[in-house]
Amino acid sequence: MHELALAEGIVATALKEAERAGLKVTEICVRMGELQQIDEELFKSVLRDIIKVEDERVREAEVVFLKEEAVLRCRVCGHEWTFGESMGNLSEEDVELIHFVPEMAHIYIGCPECGSPDFEITKGRGIWIEYIKGERWTPGSP
Ligand SMILES: [Zn+2]
Repeated sequence: MHELALAEGIVATALKEAERAGLKVTEICVRMGELQQIDEELFKSVLRDIIKVEDERVREAEVVFLKEEAVLRCRVCGHEWTFGESMGNLSEEDVELIHFVPEMAHIYIGCPECGSPDFEITKGRGIWIEYIKGERWTPGSP
């Protein structure tokens, strides 16, 4: 399951940072791109579930989720626009499809300036840790 692997990666990274800095993690902020090919609700619940059974350095961490809006840039004229701007012209099914298979965007969306389907997605893909907050950790202390 893609969502589980991602969640495990996030927790492992947070734990590694905490160990390096001698901290106990109190908050993990995860930024999710608008076009990131995962089941968002599933990912959130999986991440919260595995944190609870992890190492005591991360077990009590709060998880904060932020979104990043997708930004597209035309390779022909250089115009930049957001996925949200193009969404108004699309059916619900098309929007759903593009969320899970961003490459499909090229079939449904053209540059609003010149109409070219040749554009790149410059923002809004992937999932990453935005920041980690922690407090000094002493082994064995509550
Ligand atoms: Zn263009």
